[in-house]
Amino acid sequence: MKAVQRYFKEVVDAFVTVLIGMYVTGREFVDHKNRVVTQEYPKEPSPLPPRFRGMLFNDVNKCIACFLCAKECPVDCIELTGVGKGKARRPDTFTIDFNKCMWCNLCVEVCPVESLYMTHEFEVIFRNRRDLFVDFMKYQQAPPRPIAEEIVPEKQWVGPQARVETPPPDSEEA
Ligand code: SF4
Ligand code: SF4
Repeated sequence: MKAVQRYFKEVVDAFVTVLIGMYVTGREFVDHKNRVVTQEYPKEPSPLPPRFRGMLFNDVNKCIACFLCAKECPVDCIELTGVGKGKARRPDTFTIDFNKCMWCNLCVEVCPVESLYMTHEFEVIFRNRRDLFVDFMKYQQAPPRPIAEEIVPEKQWVGPQARVETPPPDSEEA
């Protein structure tokens, strides 16, 4: 008799289990648009945190060749030369060896004119190690700075005298 009871209990349990599974499947089918199941990257990229460290960039138009970044870099991957004196001082050469860089941000923090900054660009490839030796004198157009007042609740410092800059409304996103 007990064997018959156990048989019918298992049948009922199996039926209830199937019902629960169908309920979960049906609920996900109806409500799936409100649930993130799979993020379709790169079509739908996630927003990056404002202080995300992407590619390091030096805007050589602002740089005054003070050497502070090169002195501060713990792995000596910044090399530069400068020309001129006082306010007219500018870099003559400025390279960063990204084979060595460890994205510690120290160079950004010491730069007195905010010419060095971390961009939000991270989808980059280099086909060989020589390409990781980047000459910034080639780039006269600086990419947009990611930190903007409207997306940073508190002022975040990217250098000793940093101001939070808001890009002009008509500036193009790179
Ligand atoms: S982020 Fe750090 S390791 Fe890279 S260049 Fe700057 S100081 Fe050097
Ligand atoms: S600290 Fe800034 S201004 Fe000075 S050399 Fe480096 S990038 Fe240029």
